[in-house]
Amino acid sequence: MTLHLTNTAKTYPDGTRALLSTELTVKTGEIVSLLGPSGCGKTTLLRLIAGLETPDLGSAIWFDDDNVTALPVERRKVGMVFQSYALFPNTSVGANIGYGLKMQKLSKWEIGSRVTEVLEMCQLQKFSSRAITTLSGGQRQRVALARAIAPRPRLLLLDEPLSALDASLRETLRDELAILLREFQITAIFVTHDQDEAMAIADRVAVMADGRVVQSGTPEELYHNPNSSFVAGFVGNAMHLDGKSLGNVLTLMGGLLKLPSDGNAHNIYVRAEDVQINEDGPLIGQVETITFFGTHYRVGIKGIMPNLLTSIYTGQNAPKVGETVKVNIEPEALMLLSKEKVAA
Ligand code: ATP
Repeated sequence: MTLHLTNTAKTYPDGTRALLSTELTVKTGEIVSLLGPSGCGKTTLLRLIAGLETPDLGSAIWFDDDNVTALPVERRKVGMVFQSYALFPNTSVGANIGYGLKMQKLSKWEIGSRVTEVLEMCQLQKFSSRAITTLSGGQRQRVALARAIAPRPRLLLLDEPLSALDASLRETLRDELAILLREFQITAIFVTHDQDEAMAIADRVAVMADGRVVQSGTPEELYHNPNSSFVAGFVGNAMHLDGKSLGNVLTLMGGLLKLPSDGNAHNIYVRAEDVQINEDGPLIGQVETITFFGTHYRVGIKGIMPNLLTSIYTGQNAPKVGETVKVNIEPEALMLLSKEKVAA
């Protein structure tokens, strides 16, 4: 189903404007991630879609051609997965998954076959009769997901579903989740403040700040064409090249850099993978930190701008701490963004 929000906003009773007027469309089978710092309104937006919060007057939420704005949560038929699994602890995995189906008053046979189907899909067959209390965190999160999918919701809403898990499990489950959602062609909205998670799972990422969606696009679009300093910094950690630009030249502490166009009204950003340590480079700095990551080194260089400039180095002979290095940044790798700041 297609989700469509027009002019949707939320002001809490204490006057907090958690969500300003928002337009959002999520197409059938699309996976959209809401990404943004703490307090930017992600959960509020998700709860409005679920029907757990009432939006401000004038808001409209559509599920296909149904205006569901005034419809209570239980009639919206959305699946939800939250950070806290909210499972019945002493009940079996199978019973937890079948719970929503029982509420829908499906036949015993239908419940049995759907539970088996999602157990298989979530690789939980062998845990079917185990009590929730005997499962690990990752297994519990898989049960929560299976339970949300079993009633075949029109829309699946996930709020930081992986944040309680440790890093490696989080990554595995993240990839599994991406496969599962696509296999089932589930229209899904996924809230996270972790950019890697958003990029890995979503077809499209809506970046939020201060109660607004500030940019929405594919992970590639956001990474390569951020529309603001905020998005550039938040998605892919672009660094602000802190200097003075005059026409096509940027003057930094460590030298002059050619810009692709007039930089006067812009802040100039670059990503670490585009900062090249290169003997012919026009900038000079000194290595302050170096960290080995297996596939590459991360080199922190001082003296080029007030903050450290980070470079990704993939060669064999990495420079040493204290060494003087020359640095080049190709003009086309620079991102010129309007000086107007969206949020911090
Ligand atoms: P996080 O990543 O920390 O969960 P979030 O982006 O999901 O944050 P929300 O939970 O949507 O943010 O909150 C948005 C704003 O609304 C915050 O300033 C928050 O303090 C405020 N807020 C949330 N719930 C209420 C409430 N019931 N009453 C008043 N203000 C609220």
